[in-house]
Amino acid sequence: MEEGTTAAPDRIQRTAYGELSAEEIRQGLSQRQGKPSVPWPVEEPAHRVGPASQRAHRPFHIMAKPSGPGCNMDCSYCFYTPKEEFYPGAKKWRMNDEVLESYIRQYIEAQPMDEVHFAWQGGEPTLMGLDFFKKAFAFQKKYADGKTIHNAFQTNGLLLDEEWVQCFAEEGVLVGLSIDGPVECHDRYRLDRGGHGTAYRVLRALKLLQDYKAEFNTLTCVHAGNADRPLEVYRFLRDIGSQYLQFIPIVERPEDSLAREDAGGSGVPPEGNPEVYDWSVTPEAYGNFYCKIFDHWVRRDVGRVFVQLFDVALEAWLGYPPSLCVYAPTCGNALALEHNGDIYACDHYVYPGYRRGNLQETPLSELVTSDVQQGFGASKAADLPQYCQRCEVRFACNGGCPKYRFTHTPDGEYGLNYLCPGYKKFFRHVDPYMRFMADEIRASRSPANVMQFARMGGARPKSGQEQNAQPPKPNDPCSCGSGRKYKKCCGARNR
Ligand code: SF4
Ligand code: SF4
Repeated sequence: MEEGTTAAPDRIQRTAYGELSAEEIRQGLSQRQGKPSVPWPVEEPAHRVGPASQRAHRPFHIMAKPSGPGCNMDCSYCFYTPKEEFYPGAKKWRMNDEVLESYIRQYIEAQPMDEVHFAWQGGEPTLMGLDFFKKAFAFQKKYADGKTIHNAFQTNGLLLDEEWVQCFAEEGVLVGLSIDGPVECHDRYRLDRGGHGTAYRVLRALKLLQDYKAEFNTLTCVHAGNADRPLEVYRFLRDIGSQYLQFIPIVERPEDSLAREDAGGSGVPPEGNPEVYDWSVTPEAYGNFYCKIFDHWVRRDVGRVFVQLFDVALEAWLGYPPSLCVYAPTCGNALALEHNGDIYACDHYVYPGYRRGNLQETPLSELVTSDVQQGFGASKAADLPQYCQRCEVRFACNGGCPKYRFTHTPDGEYGLNYLCPGYKKFFRHVDPYMRFMADEIRASRSPANVMQFARMGGARPKSGQEQNAQPPKPNDPCSCGSGRKYKKCCGARNR
């Protein structure tokens, strides 16, 4: 499994602000109909079901790994297959029916919402065989108790055949297909166990998904093999028919200090060697990758291609809660389930020090709401360096995922995100466009007007309604959603 594909509830996206009326958009991106990008809605539920004692007080998300770290590929950058060492003695890792049923029952019961989102990953979950998932869907129906069940399934695509895809289409499963761009980018690191490239097999799987009209999105790792080719990667994904694009950074270190016994519980890796493997993306290349794609997208593709980070940025500029844990002030509501029922703090934190217990020994709701897990989530904000606290794009970035906070700030404080320069570049770069889109949404106009704005080099169109758009007054709340006055926020920067 590639870095970061499972940690976040962010990983399976569906966004549609371009498909909604401006009024619907104004009412909230996070309350969209259809497949939301937010596995847990941010609003309090109107209707709660299930015994109160078994419910968590707020929605949470679990990334289930029924095949553990087992995978039929051998991607150079995979951060998950090395987890084999935490389960020594096994040659294969398989979730048994007892754990599966217990998980599904508890997960549904513990959710305070009427909609329940399951996410299956690995390793490679197709290694479990289709019958396992048919059983899972049957258990879901058995325990649904009136709740609506959704499934998202992240796969490398190698084992997908007509039977799998037909079943997914029938069950309404949203499939996330891992593909790193054009063939040479994909095959740089995504190799099978025999060392062969896998791109054509993935494209075959994609064709099957399209033929059966199964819902899918693509997940693309950004690494040393494709970071300098943003437009090629973007156009390729768009042209093969992906409408929903997720990009995640590959950042892996030879010294994984989180695995140390003294790793602590806060999430920030203990100080150690900050070197990264040479397949990791550099912060600068990461920022540049997104900026280049954004510049292309914002002139041509708004409303027809959806890039997860762009949606998340727009949420931030609108002042909505982030739907992606990485950019949220706190986290801790996205845990990981291993094949044997072990629950971990997060998919990024499958380490002995972050094991919360086993759902066959302790109720899942207790593990999720435990003080140690809540403390882990809160520390995302509490451990933010001063440098971040003063940062003008903190409202959108929030310091990123703690896993990558292993560098020093310019004034020497430890705990700055390795990707900081990239984040800063991107969020600053999109600021005028995000402000424009946020203003359009608030004025019940289409955010897709931003394409004209962008083509005009960032000048407001001089037509009809747009002419009436007034610049914000100094004491108005800033449209970026920071909660500050315009004159003390973006207005200060724009002078
Ligand atoms: S540690 Fe927090 S921010 Fe990072 S992936 Fe996990 S839940 Fe998301
Ligand atoms: S851009 Fe950098 S300084 Fe600003 S909040 Fe993000 S990580 Fe911190």
